[in-house]
Amino acid sequence: MIIARAVISLDCLNRMESYGLLHHPNEACGLLLGSTSVLNQGNGQAELQIEQFIGIPNIASNPRRQFMMDPAAVLTHVMAEQSGASHIAGIMHTHPLAPAIPSQEDLGTAWLHTPSHWILSLRRKDIPEWGIFQYRIDAAAGKPYYEPVPLQINGQANRRAKK
Ligand SMILES: [Zn+2]
Repeated sequence: MIIARAVISLDCLNRMESYGLLHHPNEACGLLLGSTSVLNQGNGQAELQIEQFIGIPNIASNPRRQFMMDPAAVLTHVMAEQSGASHIAGIMHTHPLAPAIPSQEDLGTAWLHTPSHWILSLRRKDIPEWGIFQYRIDAAAGKPYYEPVPLQINGQANRRAKK
């Protein structure tokens, strides 16, 4: 499956930015619930619709440089997904000091197959910078890599996502 685009409301994006700023200079993290729809069976392209952001406590021992989502807080959402009640369409986390690009550690995540990974860089708190990625496995090398996911923000005119 190739994520052709991710669609989100400006409200939801703003909520994530507020949440990230609230936890700065620690990394903040959370889940994005929504849906994944296949656009084209032939080439496997799909579209993500993000409906809701759920902030999850970061329980990493060094939260300024890492995030680890609290398993207790995540569990209900994983169970809801397994029962078909909801769908985890993305994982969000912040980079307080680094650019909005996946780190090597990010690519080692247990959430590799979650459809999208949203990284919010707060290097400049007045200019939040987003990177949205799909993590994939290079079959030949057996290593994860990332590809940018085009973003469509509903409810605004001129804002553009930075890669
Ligand atoms: Zn990261």
